[in-house]
Amino acid sequence: MLGPPGAGKGTHGDRLAERCGIPKYATGDILREAVRNDTPLGREAKQYMDKGELVPDDVVLGLVRDVLSSPSAKDGFILDGFPRTVAQAEGLHAWLADRGMSLDVVIYFDAPEEELIRRVAGRRVCVGCGMIYNVHLDPSAAGELCERCGGRLETREDDKAETVRNRLRVYRDSTEPLLQWYATSSTSFRELKAVGSVDEVYNGLLTLVDCL
Ligand code: AMP
Repeated sequence: MLGPPGAGKGTHGDRLAERCGIPKYATGDILREAVRNDTPLGREAKQYMDKGELVPDDVVLGLVRDVLSSPSAKDGFILDGFPRTVAQAEGLHAWLADRGMSLDVVIYFDAPEEELIRRVAGRRVCVGCGMIYNVHLDPSAAGELCERCGGRLETREDDKAETVRNRLRVYRDSTEPLLQWYATSSTSFRELKAVGSVDEVYNGLLTLVDCL
């Protein structure tokens, strides 16, 4: 799943993963957990994440290769927020090809910039289970707490306005070129208009891709 911050990759990736019974790997989630656990990876990644910059390609590629090598990935997987650069896409494709695999489909989540900024400002994440809410679009039925596990809901540090603007700039400079890269590659490339309610976008996603 490819697209700018706030486009809905996390929310819809979780839903699709549950529907299809396969794992979703979000490099942002893996990195945030490493930061929380204060591991060497977390300490290195934090310097970049706090500024809304990208963590170096070799670091991210290494961690994606590790998760994709795990037994839980053997029946398929969804990638969220990776690849984010042409070098990451090339690294991923070479690694998959060496194992006789390839991506089935790339979904590009497209939404206008004002909407992305509004959504990111409204995003809340459960500190307990990672469930994603949005105070505008998809609030928790339990108010300030998670309706699934009762955990506290927080705003991500890098969702603050200043950092979001930099993340959008980084997206345009480093990740947008991937759209062209995939559009001209042999991987099936589909575009999702990620505007409207959560259910509308999810239904749109299911018309483009369902459990394969
Ligand atoms: P996300 O949760 O996908 O918005 O990612 C949060 C932050 O983690 C990003 O702003 C980057 O600093 C870092 N990050 C996540 N995925 C990648 C990636 N594929 N390449 C480089 N940095 C990443």
